[in-house]
Amino acid sequence: MAMERISHYIGGKVTPGESGRTGPVYNPATGAQTHEVDFASVEEVDRAVETAKEAFPGWRGTSLSKRSDILFRIRELLDERRRDVATVLTEQHGKVLSDAMGEVARGLENVEFACGIPHLLKGGFTEQASTGVDVYSIRQPLGVVAGITPFNFPAMVPLWMLAAAIASGNTFVLKPSEKDPGASLVLAEILKDAGLPDGVFNVVQGDRVAVDRILEHPDIEAVSFVGSTPVARHIYETGTSHGKRVQALGGAKNHMVVLPDADIEMAADAAVSSAYGSAGERCMAISVIVPVGDVAEPLVEAIAARLPKVKIGDGMESTSEMGPLVTREHRDRVAGYLDSAREQGGTVAADGREHELYRSSDGFFLGLSLIDHVTPDMDCYRDEIFGPVLSVVRTHDYEEALRLVNDNPYGNGTAIFTRDGGAARQFQFDVDAGMVGVNVPIPVPVGYYSFGGWKRSLFGDTHMYGPEGIHFYTRGKVVTARWPDPSTSQVDLGFPRTR
Ligand code: NAD
Repeated sequence: MAMERISHYIGGKVTPGESGRTGPVYNPATGAQTHEVDFASVEEVDRAVETAKEAFPGWRGTSLSKRSDILFRIRELLDERRRDVATVLTEQHGKVLSDAMGEVARGLENVEFACGIPHLLKGGFTEQASTGVDVYSIRQPLGVVAGITPFNFPAMVPLWMLAAAIASGNTFVLKPSEKDPGASLVLAEILKDAGLPDGVFNVVQGDRVAVDRILEHPDIEAVSFVGSTPVARHIYETGTSHGKRVQALGGAKNHMVVLPDADIEMAADAAVSSAYGSAGERCMAISVIVPVGDVAEPLVEAIAARLPKVKIGDGMESTSEMGPLVTREHRDRVAGYLDSAREQGGTVAADGREHELYRSSDGFFLGLSLIDHVTPDMDCYRDEIFGPVLSVVRTHDYEEALRLVNDNPYGNGTAIFTRDGGAARQFQFDVDAGMVGVNVPIPVPVGYYSFGGWKRSLFGDTHMYGPEGIHFYTRGKVVTARWPDPSTSQVDLGFPRTR
């Protein structure tokens, strides 16, 4: 039987690929291949861009009230179809359904924010800047913009981008992850049903061929990317060298500092929830616990005591709290860090390979793993593992903990757990990271703020979604106007002065 295909979406139609190149899509819980995804050729990317380019003048000319009407309808349909989207996420990514529903909810926030586009695009106006002269600023869309997205949030990250981009009057080409591309087509269907004109939103499935064409295409004005750091750097460097505006969000290594006065049970709950939720495949997952002083021993004990209680299984089963990893290769790479940690002097306090499902299931499962006595030179500390492996780096005092976080090349999110408001405030002031949690382990900003890391977690200077998203997808224009009496007109070669 032919495998079901996941194709492109161009000009409002699902468009089967013609390149002859495809890739497999798995159900990570069973290990079985469920779909074949088309990989776009250069010509297919060009067709999508051409379609988006043709749709741009009409969409740009569509009134703000009409655009916001459509966004409200997208909001309603996405709300109604939350479960449809979430089911595809669970079937192709592996995350448990409740977590997938959470992903959709966080994506929905971005659509809700974009519904306010008439307000968000309001410019400034200065009357009488000079005698009889007014100055005003407006923001206009860029044209065709593209989004390249990672496997770990196949609905939310595209929504981070497309809601702001489309609301601002751009037309959009999405290149989703080839590992779990199905959600992109459900989103396309929702956008169409909500009345978005054909050609405003397009999807090209594929791999590096599609990405590299996007980066070089002369008709693409801006590229938003979320993914791993090496690819983010490539996207930023190649895209900007082709004259594009680029925001490229990269990988992460998020530290959670636990001060001696923290509530240990609360900190342990937060550590386990944030490190192992979505099998650790979240860019804001805590992957390093940094206990300060005496808190280390009881904290590690409290974390270890919680691990056997977490239920692992197929994400479609309501009892499962953690699902499998996205692919077998990724699962095996993650598990490899347990060996290297042991060889390099770490203490493997919990080895996920001992879990029944790791040993007996065809799914890509790995149990919860904990490595204590980690030092910054070990591979498990230096690399982004992106799986259910939590490291503990013990420190003597606040200064040592802070230095560890600030010396790390990544700077996406970080958290501090304490009952001392002054210490938390000092941390917020001192720490080099884009998003900080105070007794909050995964401080993903709400949709009306913006999301972005520092250091190797972001290339470019604009954060994603929220106000900075609108800024990224528009460019400023300042108009200086006067309506003088023509009879007062005269030649004046002097430089215009305002006084
Ligand atoms: P990835 O970098 O492998 O892939 C991301 C996208 O780039 C995909 O669409 C993929 O097809 C494409 N791609 C992959 N290799 C490429 C190459 N060599 N050339 C051109 N394009 C290429 O990332 P992933 O494994 O899908 O996602 C996990 C990574 O994303 C982790 O590093 C995670 O931290 C990061 N991430 C970061 C954030 C953030 O906000 N900073 C959010 C989510 C995920």
